Amino acid sequence: MAGAESPNQSSEIRKDGINDRWVIFSPARSRRPSDFKSKSNPNPNNQSECPFCKGHEHECAPEIFRIPADSTSDWRIRVIQNLYPALNRDLHFQNRNHEGSSHGDVSVSGFGFHDVVIESPVHSVHLIDLSPAEVGDVLLAFKARIDQLRMNDSIKYVQVFKNHGASAGASMSHSHSQMIALPIVPTTVSARLNSMKEYYEQTGNCSLCDIRVDDLIIHDSTHFKSVVPFAATFPFEIWIIPRDHSTYFHDLDSEKAVDLGGLLKFMLLKMSSQLNNPPFNFMIHTSPFQVDPSYLPCCHWFLQIVPQLSGVGGFELGTGCYINPVFPEDAAKILREVKVPDQK
Ligand code: AMP
Ligand code: ZN
Ligand code: ZN
Repeated sequence: MAGAESPNQSSEIRKDGINDRWVIFSPARSRRPSDFKSKSNPNPNNQSECPFCKGHEHECAPEIFRIPADSTSDWRIRVIQNLYPALNRDLHFQNRNHEGSSHGDVSVSGFGFHDVVIESPVHSVHLIDLSPAEVGDVLLAFKARIDQLRMNDSIKYVQVFKNHGASAGASMSHSHSQMIALPIVPTTVSARLNSMKEYYEQTGNCSLCDIRVDDLIIHDSTHFKSVVPFAATFPFEIWIIPRDHSTYFHDLDSEKAVDLGGLLKFMLLKMSSQLNNPPFNFMIHTSPFQVDPSYLPCCHWFLQIVPQLSGVGGFELGTGCYINPVFPEDAAKILREVKVPDQK
């Protein structure tokens, strides 16, 4: 029977209180939640022409650091400059007046840093093939690079993100993530901060410390919980949230990195198993570096995983509201129950 696994049959409009965004849940537009499978090919380029492979380091833009630091051909992770950067690290940051503008348009120089984190020397090895400690090392590489970038007073925010698969925006299939350090705070980040602050002012609590997850929980680890958010924008979207209040991702320590590495791997394995190795993105949503101290008790970082199962259409572009055919409670139940091989 269609929809037999979904107790939620009628549409509902929910507000994501963290991102201040409305989402329409419309099971009528759906196959059964368990029928979601990706059909796209997640591998954009092949090994023979891959500059990220061990032995091809000379084909890459300059290296920033490697792990282990003193390694030669036996490196495990490399952080390098992006050969085609979105922003230019050699420019000086400056505000420019936008000539002829009288309605609030602003222009600043395209200063910033755009780096690539190569997560393994081997082309066919992806994050889910690494051990929790090895995924933890990738997370600590993000932290180490953020610690360098935040020393620059002109950098206001660093976005860490991963594109996996062509329809998730990846041009390279070798396992990698990227980091873009910005001289501005993106408007979605300010909106999230303000939304969390508003909740804090009303309740005295941080909204992510306060999050109610009874039927939305997927898994708990020692220091983190993984959930499908109450107003998930996308089907089978997952958030991994520190259990204790934490404003900045870069405060992650080695023990928590291994724990988070294990949980991230576990979630990627579950998602891959349930949804047929879909293209996906993950994003680390941290806090701007120079926030007013009054924001610190309300800002709580988290990692968002989004499997790419459907495109964005005109309604979403027009309204900023998304239509999600899978209720979060159903997605969480399926992800909780899907079995994956024991972790290393
Ligand atoms: P994606 O397109 O998400 O797969 O990310 C791969 C990134 O690697 C892109 O932003 C490219 O600009 C960048 N890239 C491609 N080739 C090189 C290279 N040889 N050295 C450094 N970065 C590269
Ligand atoms: Zn490769
Ligand atoms: Zn909190």
